[in-house]
Amino acid sequence: MSEKRILVTGGAGFLGSHLCHRLVEAGNEVLCVDNFFTGRRANVAPLLDSPLFELMRHDVTFPLYVEVDEIYNLACPASPIHYQFDPVQTTKTSVHGAINMLGLAKRTRAKIFQASTSEVYGDPVVHPQTEAYWGNVNPIGPRSCYDEGKRCAETLFFDYHRQHGTRIKVARIFNTYGPRMHPNDGRVVSNFIVQALKGEPITIYGEGMQTRSFCYVDDMVEAFLRLMGTESHLTGPVNLGNPVEFTMRELAELVIGITGSKSRMTFAPLPVDDPKQRQPDIALARRELGWEPKVPLKAGLEKTVAYFDSVLRKA
Ligand code: NAD
Ligand code: UDP
Repeated sequence: MSEKRILVTGGAGFLGSHLCHRLVEAGNEVLCVDNFFTGRRANVAPLLDSPLFELMRHDVTFPLYVEVDEIYNLACPASPIHYQFDPVQTTKTSVHGAINMLGLAKRTRAKIFQASTSEVYGDPVVHPQTEAYWGNVNPIGPRSCYDEGKRCAETLFFDYHRQHGTRIKVARIFNTYGPRMHPNDGRVVSNFIVQALKGEPITIYGEGMQTRSFCYVDDMVEAFLRLMGTESHLTGPVNLGNPVEFTMRELAELVIGITGSKSRMTFAPLPVDDPKQRQPDIALARRELGWEPKVPLKAGLEKTVAYFDSVLRKA
């Protein structure tokens, strides 16, 4: 038993809840902090009976005084429609949230993990993206609250590391999907699956030729744990994601095939600054973490379809 006291911010969200489950299963004491903007109590409901688990409603833009050994900082809405709903709050969550959690890490000497994002690369002109690429980000567009907020958070992590010796682990997460995504999350995988299961039109933005590389949640959480477990010299940033790239049309066809849906594709305008292509170079994660994704897209989609099918049947 490792018996660490671990704080997970954004722990009632999609990725956070999977992480909380893994950490409790391994015998750790987990404090899950969430303001429930996009997260839900239901995501962690099975853990509420465990003496190892505690759920606290708290907004990370305010300071938090607790005693912990490790911090996973995941608090931040991740879906474009949700992070653009209150963009000022999104920037505050990334920036003030990072300052508060880094302050906590400094005082408690905790190791701290940051859920950064492939969005720090913006609409990339280097393909696939390596960690050395500085990105192509619009600082004043509708995605900027998220992209620049996350970039500033990375800056804060590295300044705390250089200035105070804080032990940091910065992960650049590429598109991840799986069970416990909210049916109204708005990201492409959940949208397509819910539309297909309901027999509604599948909404392709633009011509659907833009690409993304999708990682199944279990693979991603495994990478989080491995990164947190590395020695101090490894600060990141480390790209985490599945390097197999698909167009949105290919994704829609896969979802239609798996669900056996009669849904047709319908085309809507491409959102402003929507990245045209995205694929992680994961050589660093392979080398330093001995990690690579194991779940192919089709297998992961099948599990995710089964999840949404059961959710929609109960609704
Ligand atoms: P999510 O929206 O399901 O989870 C985010 C959680 O943070 C929610 O539970 C939400 O209520 C909570 N939250 C938001 N603002 C908060 C605040 N001010 N104080 C406390 N809690 C707050 O999204 P997710 O997919 O689970 O993403 C988790 C993290 O991983 C985010 O930081 C996101 O930027 C990052 N990330 C995710 C992906 C992905 O594909 N899932 C990709 C890149 C980065
Ligand atoms: N997308 C789409 N239909 C949808 C939702 C998203 O075609 O119903 C596209 C979106 O324009 C983007 C890609 O799917 O090109 C991934 O979008 P998502 O919001 O999941 O994440 P992003 O990687 O853009 O943050």
